[in-house]
Amino acid sequence: MHGKFVISRSSISFKTAAHALSARQNPDHPLPQLCSKILCFVKLSHLIQTSMPVAVSLQNVHKTYNKVPVVNDLSFSIEAGEMFGLLGPNGAGKSTTIRMLTTLTRPSAGHIEIAGYDVVRQPLQVKQTIGVVLQQISVDADLSVWENMELHGRLHHIPNPKRQKLINQWLDYVELADRRDALVKTLSGGMKRRLQIARALLHEPKVLFLDEPTVGLDPQTRRRLWEIIRDLNKQGMTMLLTTHYMDEVEFLCDRIGIMDAGQLIELGTLQQFKAQHGEGLLMKQVEDRFEYKFFPTLAQANTYLDSLPDKTGIMVRPSNLEDIFVELTGRQLD
Ligand code: ADP
Repeated sequence: MHGKFVISRSSISFKTAAHALSARQNPDHPLPQLCSKILCFVKLSHLIQTSMPVAVSLQNVHKTYNKVPVVNDLSFSIEAGEMFGLLGPNGAGKSTTIRMLTTLTRPSAGHIEIAGYDVVRQPLQVKQTIGVVLQQISVDADLSVWENMELHGRLHHIPNPKRQKLINQWLDYVELADRRDALVKTLSGGMKRRLQIARALLHEPKVLFLDEPTVGLDPQTRRRLWEIIRDLNKQGMTMLLTTHYMDEVEFLCDRIGIMDAGQLIELGTLQQFKAQHGEGLLMKQVEDRFEYKFFPTLAQANTYLDSLPDKTGIMVRPSNLEDIFVELTGRQLD
């Protein structure tokens, strides 16, 4: 994991940079070398900010509601370009975490930065840096597709003609260009979700938060959304995704964080989880339920099965994320 390396925006003021520029253009100026060094630094700092090694950082974050801890000492970071999946049973604190990351609620304690901006001290910069697709459909049903995009573009002060160019670009991208004049209430669930994604991308965010983006959608529409999400990530978009669908996480995410009772109980890649918990799984039916036993490899699970004199109601298979999730949290998602 890379170390955090962000140069403060206040390191060099615009005035200094402008002064340096005019000095550089004037061969009689006494400080041409110093000025060109300053310009170099401005360019370098811009490059570093653009490359954004740490996109999301949480340090010892707490959230309490009515003295009840909901998020409890949460620390993790997401690197630029990563696709991070946050999993957990209902009530684990995922939505509260997303709400804190997206400035919708303040942490009770701890420190959160998005692309180097502090969510408490610099909420405006954070909002300009992030795109958010929340679980509930948040586009305006009584406006047309284009009007929803236009409204969001104006709220973000995107000037024309750039605004029209971006609206067309993202509606094209999510395959809604031919529905631009349709009222949102006439769209299918999948189309509304695609519109939410297009709208979230309009102001060119660096980090996209997707809170259960495919919930309630049919399998074909889910697959199409997966393609869009994956393609965006391939283009360099950092993403944090919460979902109840394990196949979605397995398909999309580079790294996974599992939360339970407000705490991060596991963090890593699926391969790391499997290496840690076991790649082979033995399932044994006991009355109306199953007992599970992990083995380091599938071959070891099979060897164990072969050694059993009575194999009734027992099977072996490769383990998956859901098995590990249930092992860790002790219950299925609903
Ligand atoms: P998840 O998204 O993992 O299902 P949430 O973050 O929605 O979990 O909720 C975590 C816990 O915080 C739950 O017990 C929930 O009831 C509680 N909670 C969430 N928001 C509030 C609130 N505004 N006031 C009081 N309790 C809340």
